[in-house]
Amino acid sequence: MYDIIILGSGPAGLTAGIYAIRAGHKTLLIPGIRWGGQLMLTTLVENYPGFVDGIQGPDLMMDMRKQAERLGVEFLNTDFTQADFSSKPFKITADGKVYEAKSVIIATGADSIWLNIPGEMQLRGRGVSTCAVCDAFFFKGRDTVVVGGGDSAMEDALVLSKVAKSVTIIHRRDKFRASKAMQDRVFKEAKIKVLWNKTVIKYIGTDHVAGIILKDIQTGKEEEFKTDGVFLAIGHKPNTEKFVGLELDSKGYIVRKEIKDESGLLGYRTGTSVPGVFVGGDVHDYRYKQAITAAGFGCMAALDADRWLQENK
Ligand code: NAP
Repeated sequence: MYDIIILGSGPAGLTAGIYAIRAGHKTLLIPGIRWGGQLMLTTLVENYPGFVDGIQGPDLMMDMRKQAERLGVEFLNTDFTQADFSSKPFKITADGKVYEAKSVIIATGADSIWLNIPGEMQLRGRGVSTCAVCDAFFFKGRDTVVVGGGDSAMEDALVLSKVAKSVTIIHRRDKFRASKAMQDRVFKEAKIKVLWNKTVIKYIGTDHVAGIILKDIQTGKEEEFKTDGVFLAIGHKPNTEKFVGLELDSKGYIVRKEIKDESGLLGYRTGTSVPGVFVGGDVHDYRYKQAITAAGFGCMAALDADRWLQENK
């Protein structure tokens, strides 16, 4: 029986672990096979306070993990398969075993969204990627495309421009939603071109991407566009499919419930529809989605769980 089980190991989960163990709770963290969250797929992080020259995303996550381990958080290096919140203690199943907890913190993050168009399934990993940082190297001297108009698309285009022969950003509108700073960097990079008002409706290629079919949003005209690689940067989907009995919103994000505590004054801001289950990070936060806000939410979730455990002995 654990006081707190934490699901997920991005900045939210690991920060929650650090706070939970320092509050004296027996804490188990189930990080998932692909541990570390989205920063594992990133290069230089310059907006996480405390690192004068920035830090590589994977290094930051490794340090957070080592910090949690050093303080005594137990890690179970696997994926959980079920989270049952229908009765107490809560039951988390992983590797065929059931782990019980008085309180659970969900920090399972969000995953990349795919276009779901013809050719995508068979060409995943054969020219279609959702991670430029991971796969750019394979496109040295090749023609590439990035789909999307947010910060991720800008970042991916910049990463690719360092190795690829060309980068074309394909966006479905006539303006980006990315931050001005990121857009400025993209527009300054000669290798990067933009095609506005277009969507990708099909991939061409059998063993590897050879091109795509584009559709013009305004005219409806379709055209073939030759490329060696397609990098999707069209947003994320929260990892909530294994949670039964928890209230989710229309996009699948966990709904945060500010439940009142006994005093009626403080409340639990990271509460969910199940008392004793708390949430932190991108799995509920579709607004800020930053490493630092995820870490902050992880801290809040652990402080709430700590207080809830004290008040519900
Ligand atoms: P995002 O901001 O939601 O942008 C997704 C982009 O994909 C949008 O431009 C959207 O078009 C487009 N899109 C969505 N579905 C599409 C579809 N089916 N077909 C074609 N295009 C589609 O997602 P994000 O770029 O992953 O960023 C998420 C959050 O992380 C943001 O808050 C961002 O600021 C942050 N972030 C920050 C950094 C950084 O600071 N270095 C890096 C990466 C991400 P519309 O614009 O038309 O909706």
